Amino acid sequence: MDKKVIGVLGGGQLGRMMMEPANNLNLKVNILDAKGAPATQVQVSDHVDGDFKDEAKIQELAKKCDVLTMEIEHVNCDALDRVAKENPNIDIQPTPQTVRIIQDKFLQKEHLKNFNIPIPEYASVTDKQSILDIVNNKGFGYPIMLKSRKLAYDGRGNTVINNESEIENAIKTLNPTGADNALYVEKWVPYKKELAVMVARSKSGNTVSYETVETIQKDNICHIVFAPAQIDGLIQKNAKAIAEQAIACLYGAGIFGVEMFYLENGEILVNEIAPRPHNSGHYTIEACETSQFEQHIRAILDLPLGSTKMRVGAAAMVNILGTGDGEEGLADTLRPCQASMTIPGATVHLYGKRECRKGRKMGHITVTADTMPEVVEKVEKLLEYMPNGKK
Ligand code: ATP
Ligand code: MG
Ligand code: MG
Repeated sequence: MDKKVIGVLGGGQLGRMMMEPANNLNLKVNILDAKGAPATQVQVSDHVDGDFKDEAKIQELAKKCDVLTMEIEHVNCDALDRVAKENPNIDIQPTPQTVRIIQDKFLQKEHLKNFNIPIPEYASVTDKQSILDIVNNKGFGYPIMLKSRKLAYDGRGNTVINNESEIENAIKTLNPTGADNALYVEKWVPYKKELAVMVARSKSGNTVSYETVETIQKDNICHIVFAPAQIDGLIQKNAKAIAEQAIACLYGAGIFGVEMFYLENGEILVNEIAPRPHNSGHYTIEACETSQFEQHIRAILDLPLGSTKMRVGAAAMVNILGTGDGEEGLADTLRPCQASMTIPGATVHLYGKRECRKGRKMGHITVTADTMPEVVEKVEKLLEYMPNGKK
C-alpha cells in the first residue's frame, strides 16, 4: 500500500490498536517504548527499546522511519523539532506545533479562544490569593476546577475546590514542588452530558468526522461511551461542526478527539482536544466502516480517508479499569470480560499491560446491536460484574 515506515512514540494500548490495521495494509510500524510494552507485544516489524521522551532514542527511531507519529501528547516537542531539523526527510504528524499547544491545557484554551471556539471560562492562577480573587471577584464562584497545565490524563491533574478551606490542599496536591505556571482554573460547567467527536484530517487537508458520541466519566475517567449520542439531531450536528472548527485551527494530519460539554440550554463548549486516537473512538473498531486507528494511519500517510459511517445501529464501549492491584486485582477486573463471552455482539480488547493496578485502563469491551435499547441491555449485563454491580 505504501512503502513508508511509521514510527510511533509510545507503545501503550493506542499504539497496540494501531498495529492491526497497519498489518492489514502491509505497513511497517516501529514503536519506541520499553520492551514488553503493550504495542511491542503484537509488533511484527522493528522496535526501538527505550523511553519515548529520550531524545537519542527518538533520533534512533527517526533514522528508521519516514513518518513519525505519537500515541500520547506528553512528548518532548523541542526534541521533535531538533529531530525534524536533523532528518529533513522525516514527516512528523501531527506537527510538534500542534502538540505543543495541546499538551499545555492553558495554552490550548488560549489558542481555542483566539479562534472563537466556545470553551469554559478559565484563568491563570499562581497562589491561594489569586484563586480567591477569581472565585469572589471574577464571578467564577464555587465549585471551581483547579487543573494542571501539563501531563494530565484520566483526571489525574484535576481537583475540585468546593470552598476556601480546600484551596491550599488542592494546590499542594497538584503542584507539590510549587513550580511556576503549573496550574490554572476553570469555571465549573454544569453540563447535562459530555460529548465527543473524532475528526481526521489527511496531509492534503481532507477532513472527515465520526458520529457525535456520549461519554460518561466516573471519577474523572472515561467509563462508558454510547454511539451515537442519544441527543437531538441538531445538537449532534452542532457538536460535529464545533469539533471540526476546533480541529481547523490546529495544524497537521492525523486523528483528533474533541471532548465537549453539552449544557441544559443547548450550548456546547469544548473541554479539550487529544491529537491522537482517543478512548471515545474505540467503538469505531467494531462499529464503523473505518476504525479510528486505520483512519489515523491513512491520514498521516496521506492515503484516501475512509468512511466514518456506522455499520451497526448502535454501539457502546465499556472501559475495563483495574479494580485492584496484582494477580488478585486482575482476576476480579476480568470478570466482566468473561461475562461478555456469552453476550452476542460483545468484543473484548485486553491491552496486555504487565501489571494490574487499581484505576489503570486494562482493556475495553465494545457491544453492538441494531438499536440503542438493545445495546443498553447488554451494557447493563456487563455492569453487573463491575464494582458495585450485582454479581
Ligand atoms: P483525559 O483522560 O480525557 O485526558 P484529563 O485528565 O485531561 O482527562 P479533563 O478532560 O480536563 O481531564 O477532565 C476530566 C473530566 O473532569 C471531564 O471529562 C469532566 O467529566 C470533568 N471536568 C473537567 N473540567 C470540568 C469543568 N470545568 N467543569 C465540570 N467538570 C469538568
Ligand atoms: Mg486530557
Ligand atoms: Mg479529558
